[in-house]
Amino acid sequence: MLAVDDIPCALMVTDTQGHVLRINAELLRIVGGCENDWRGRSMEQMLPPAGRLFTQNYIFPMLHQEQRVKELYLHLVGAGGTPVPVMLNATRRPAADGAEATIVWAVFVALERSRFEAELIQARADAEGLAARLAASSEQVERLNRELSERARKVELRNLELSELSLTDPLTGLKNRRALELAVHAWLPAAGQPCVGALLLVDVDHFKRVNDSCGHAEGDRALVALAQRLRASARTTDLVVRLGGEEFVLWLPGADANVARQVAGRLHQGVRELRTPLGALSVSVGLAAWHGPAAEDVLSRMLRSADKAVYEAKAGGRDRTVCAEPLPALAQA
Ligand code: GH3
Ligand code: MG
Ligand code: MG
Repeated sequence: MLAVDDIPCALMVTDTQGHVLRINAELLRIVGGCENDWRGRSMEQMLPPAGRLFTQNYIFPMLHQEQRVKELYLHLVGAGGTPVPVMLNATRRPAADGAEATIVWAVFVALERSRFEAELIQARADAEGLAARLAASSEQVERLNRELSERARKVELRNLELSELSLTDPLTGLKNRRALELAVHAWLPAAGQPCVGALLLVDVDHFKRVNDSCGHAEGDRALVALAQRLRASARTTDLVVRLGGEEFVLWLPGADANVARQVAGRLHQGVRELRTPLGALSVSVGLAAWHGPAAEDVLSRMLRSADKAVYEAKAGGRDRTVCAEPLPALAQA
């Protein structure tokens, strides 16, 4: 008959309270001592405190209820005092033939499993550390990105401000000559056929007198007030520009000579209401209208024409508009 010591597995028989009745050589190799030492002692003495709690609260109740427990992992206190990871199966054998009920325990050392478990725990900790580092660095990247786009936005705004500044006359807040060039340039391809537009070149009459008699600051105030009047005379689609000094331009895209004349009429009216210490202001206006094919030099030709018309308006007594010959000259021939 097979002796328990010949079985290559750690075995033990206890009573239903866990007192050792039999223990084989394989199990003694783990927990130390000899069978006589263990006989009658509680098997809980092989367990560390956590294992004892587990045994009392789970293993014995389960054995009582289910008659068996399977694949329970716990530690035994090894012969040298070091914990030995084991897997445990146990079966409760009922009382029979006058013999008390017993429990048969089979114990398998689970060092490998324990090592795998430790590796798994380490790998998980590493992965968590990595994930935390990744999260931190992606947060940093996000923060840097946010800072970058914020800076880019500021630079863009600054550029916009600068380009706006470069197109604005600081004294009156009107657009300047460069803005006029850009506006006409942008209008040309979209103007349709024929291109229709008009320009009023406005020159303040005897402005030097205002400066000379009332001072440059008063002259500046008059220029600012005049700028407001010019704006008020223009349509929303028009562009009012300070060309320089006391000269202004109203660019009226889509307006023919008649419309431009009406705008000029409103303009004279509005300007005459302005007062300086010397009396009412007035302006001389040269009107140039374009009706014909688009040409690259539309603006310079209109300005030249309008300038001549201003000269005629001055010669004719000022405070008036003179309409230049229609442009382009060839189209009218
Ligand atoms: P006209 O009717 O012939 O145009 O006479 P005018 O006095 O207006 O002509 P002129 O071109 O001789 O004088 C223009 C004056 O405008 C000269 C200058 O003192 C003045 N002026 C030019 N720019 C400014 C400015 O920014 N502020 C002030 N206060 N005066 C300016
Ligand atoms: Mg002038
Ligand atoms: Mg003038």
